[in-house]
Amino acid sequence: MAAVTPAVVTPAAGPGQAYKVVIVGTGFSGLGMAIGLKKAGMHDFVILEKADEVGGTWRENTYPGCACDIMSLLYSYSFEPKADWSRMFPRQEELLEYIKHCVDKYDLAQHIRFEAEVTGAEYDDATDTWQVAVSGAGTEPGEIVRGRALAAGMGPLHQPNIPDLPGLASFEGTTFHSAEWDHSYDLTGKRVAVIGTGASAIQFVPQIARKVRSLTLFQRTPPWIMPKPDRRVTRVERTLFNRVPGVQRGYRNGIYLLQESFVLGFKNPGLLKAASNISRWHLRRQVADPELRRKLTPDYTMGCKRTLVSSDYYPALTRPNVELTTEGIAEIREHSIVTRDGREHEVDAIIFGTGFHVTDAFEHAHIVSTGGLKIQDAWRDGIEAHLGVSVAGFPNLFLLLGPNSGLGHNSMIFIIEAQIRYVLQCLEMVDSAGAGRISVRSSVQDRFNEWVQRKSEGAVWVAGGCTSWYLDKNGVNRAAWPASTVNYWLRTRRLSPADFQVEGAAARPAASTTGAESVGA
Ligand code: NAP
Repeated sequence: MAAVTPAVVTPAAGPGQAYKVVIVGTGFSGLGMAIGLKKAGMHDFVILEKADEVGGTWRENTYPGCACDIMSLLYSYSFEPKADWSRMFPRQEELLEYIKHCVDKYDLAQHIRFEAEVTGAEYDDATDTWQVAVSGAGTEPGEIVRGRALAAGMGPLHQPNIPDLPGLASFEGTTFHSAEWDHSYDLTGKRVAVIGTGASAIQFVPQIARKVRSLTLFQRTPPWIMPKPDRRVTRVERTLFNRVPGVQRGYRNGIYLLQESFVLGFKNPGLLKAASNISRWHLRRQVADPELRRKLTPDYTMGCKRTLVSSDYYPALTRPNVELTTEGIAEIREHSIVTRDGREHEVDAIIFGTGFHVTDAFEHAHIVSTGGLKIQDAWRDGIEAHLGVSVAGFPNLFLLLGPNSGLGHNSMIFIIEAQIRYVLQCLEMVDSAGAGRISVRSSVQDRFNEWVQRKSEGAVWVAGGCTSWYLDKNGVNRAAWPASTVNYWLRTRRLSPADFQVEGAAARPAASTTGAESVGA
């Protein structure tokens, strides 16, 4: 969310003008929330989407080779299995198709407002509503959409991080980030620099290496990489999924348990020895050159950063037109990148595979609660939320995939579904009390976050000898869930009403789906 001019937020509308829930984003979280509301009989909501299409991260990331590194049969809503996945690991196009299928099946299009980017949100005490400022081609100038609750499903990985490298502004070639791929730029025959070797880069590097004249890959930290057992899903498997009850569910549960077993290692890094050995074997098998192997060998504990899966990344680096550089970038000039050893690498384009703003994503967000409390003030010591969803002092605000609810080892959709249940329970608590607002008690949030940090101590994210987007600038884990997903499920399955304050005026009559109002600028 960007800053909003305070003048845009007008005094509250009268009763009957607000949606029950305003949802932000049409990725897996936002759409899942919408489906959850519908299933609970709550149809009075709107989904605000900044783009002109649904899909969240699977719409934005269109880089060559973009795919999910969690297997297809697990990477879908549990209530909406797909029996005809084409591959064991879903590619971006198929995921986007699945998301669109869900929109159609659950009749969500009527609730979505496209080209309506949320630029800020302020809580109005008098009406117990969030006043959400929107802008874009699908909105009126200065428009405010009101909702009794605000469910933010923007996703934790959506603000591209472009490092502030010395001289970058002087570069005269083409630059773009992996999440904003410039498909109009033909890489064929070009000299290309790729900065970063994370989950995104290892997927697109093998794809572009074939067509570029030269590819110089700037690596700061080598990732741990496991072989990717990707293949086509066979016709026999698909028939079984369709016709034999329980087979698909069995596959899904099996994959879930396999992924979940990694958490034991994250909490007890010694147990990751076997997995680390497989990764080292994978590197030895695919890279013969000892010098290249040395550069690609991680010197920190597996799991400290997200463990990656790929069977075509290492081979791509052995191509004669690909060079792995580990010297560090000193500066960027008009047509080149100069490394710390003084070498100048001439390039036509720079592609940033440098990840996203995560723990600092809300630094410029305009979210203002009761009494003028800004999210930045609430989070002066770091981003925190109860179970990653509720922030003390911010009534009726629900963050989907908020702080410390990220996973490095399993499907985020599992967490999303648990969070949707959490939000529905909160809405029911408010409704059944005939109240206007619900907020988590700050003592409960504090206790929860003490637990998070206690659990993180000694765990691989903090003690594994690396930095990652899980940690904030002080090295505190602000993004990763520090326990099993079963633990998360148990904690969110039945919320304790004692953990929340339910208060305020009686619930107001709901608005129709056209309940957004416009305030003239
Ligand atoms: P990332 O994992 O955060 O990797 C960013 C890369 O850029 C790292 O190699 C990092 O190096 C490097 N980097 C950052 N700033 C740099 C600088 N100033 N100079 C040099 N190098 C720099 O980002 P990502 O690859 O976009 O992936 C982000 C997350 O998205 C993943 O962890 C994953 O959760 C998700 N993702 C998932 C999938 C999937 O299949 N499910 C696919 C893609 C992405 P350091 O390691 O040294 O910091």
